[in-house]
Amino acid sequence: MRLVIKFGGGAVADGGKIKAVADLIRSGKEEEKERKEIVVVTSAIFKVTDILHENAARVAKEGDVEKVKQFVDELKKKHEVVASEAIDNEYVLSVVTREIRERMGEMEKALMGISLLGELTTRSLDYIVSFGERLSAPILAGTLQSMGIDAVHLTGGKVGIITNEDYGNAQLAVDAEETIRARIMPLLGANKIPVISGYTGKTKKGIITTLGRGGSDYTATIIGAAIDADEVWLWKETEGIMSADPKIIRDARKIPYISYAEAMELSYFGASVLHPRAIEPAMWKKIPIRVKNLFKPEDEGTLIGEEPEQTKRAAKAITLIENTSIINIAGAAVKSISDIAARIFSALAAESVEDIIMISQGSSERTISIVIDSAQLERAIYAIQSLNAGDTVIRDFTSNSNVCAMGVVGAEMAGTPGVAGEVFSALGKGGISVIMISQGSSEFNISFVVKKEDAYKAAQAIHDMFEMGMRY
Ligand code: ASP
Ligand code: MG
Repeated sequence: MRLVIKFGGGAVADGGKIKAVADLIRSGKEEEKERKEIVVVTSAIFKVTDILHENAARVAKEGDVEKVKQFVDELKKKHEVVASEAIDNEYVLSVVTREIRERMGEMEKALMGISLLGELTTRSLDYIVSFGERLSAPILAGTLQSMGIDAVHLTGGKVGIITNEDYGNAQLAVDAEETIRARIMPLLGANKIPVISGYTGKTKKGIITTLGRGGSDYTATIIGAAIDADEVWLWKETEGIMSADPKIIRDARKIPYISYAEAMELSYFGASVLHPRAIEPAMWKKIPIRVKNLFKPEDEGTLIGEEPEQTKRAAKAITLIENTSIINIAGAAVKSISDIAARIFSALAAESVEDIIMISQGSSERTISIVIDSAQLERAIYAIQSLNAGDTVIRDFTSNSNVCAMGVVGAEMAGTPGVAGEVFSALGKGGISVIMISQGSSEFNISFVVKKEDAYKAAQAIHDMFEMGMRY
């Protein structure tokens, strides 16, 4: 049995928790009679990535050298305390502590540079935030070593996560898999447990990159695919993937089985359980992913994989993306719709309006409606306004931030007639009017936009209508 196991967030919040994680790894390794090969992926210690992001920005803005020192000291202390709580063996602790100090020294130099320049590039931001995982992996490996387990820690770059130069959201290079396999298999052969810093990678030139927020899920499935793991386990502080957000929807339940395609739709459409790209590597190799709950280790969690017939559903989950805005654009009469669309999307891309959630078009009117993340609205408006410079491309446009985008996801919707009808009749019965509709060609997702104040009621009506979470 070959397993990749990922820990993140609250699982690695302090020394005691890291010890519990190490115990879980040890019992996994020892529990079965058959030989077990385990690769561990860890994210940063709880909240450290956020702290690094905030401070890098602050340092660049304020340029206060004293504050840099203070920040580095605090973060160093935090990691030293966690290490000393987690690691019982004096010698191992001294090695890990030395490592923490070296890393913090490097971080201090980088932050000093940023504070002097008063400028933070995406490249230097990636370098700074990568320290979160580059500090946590030695601590977790040290904890395992102090329990007598032969663990070694490696950064994403060292293990062969070679990426492009898209800092902050780097993509894996096509030929990376072979390198990863070549680095990890000998360690497993020698009965070692590699402990890998999630989230981090490096470019071909050796410059550190990150894979996007929540990226250690992605690290785990990349590695799982590269070494042909039997399963990838993602330990979280949630029950698994849910039929809806239980904070909003009555009767929301854990989904025991979900297909790769559905999990992918859900993570792209606002359900923040998984890194959006994490499903793909496992899907290609048909490796099951288990989302497991740290608070209920004996629970099966959610299994993402090839789904058994009896759990397939036309509508399995509903998600909502709350901070969204809709922009309606009417093109000038002389232009073709394809020309207008081309200009709009290249202007949006040029302004880095990246999270386009939905698009729909009425061709006779030459109107295009676009739903985006509200955080990008200002840039989007600027981009669209600039289109008319020199030439009238846009006749008129309006925007509305008082909306919520929602998605109903279910793989069987493709072969089941009338699902959209049921969705919209549930809304009709609730007196909720729909502002925009779109269905992706995958047919695994019906998405639509309603007024913000109708969103929870709409989601509940649909969740009830399909008895989501009730019929497993
Ligand atoms: N530490 C990174 C983040 O917070 C990666 C992860 O947690 O998966 O985004
Ligand atoms: Mg994290």
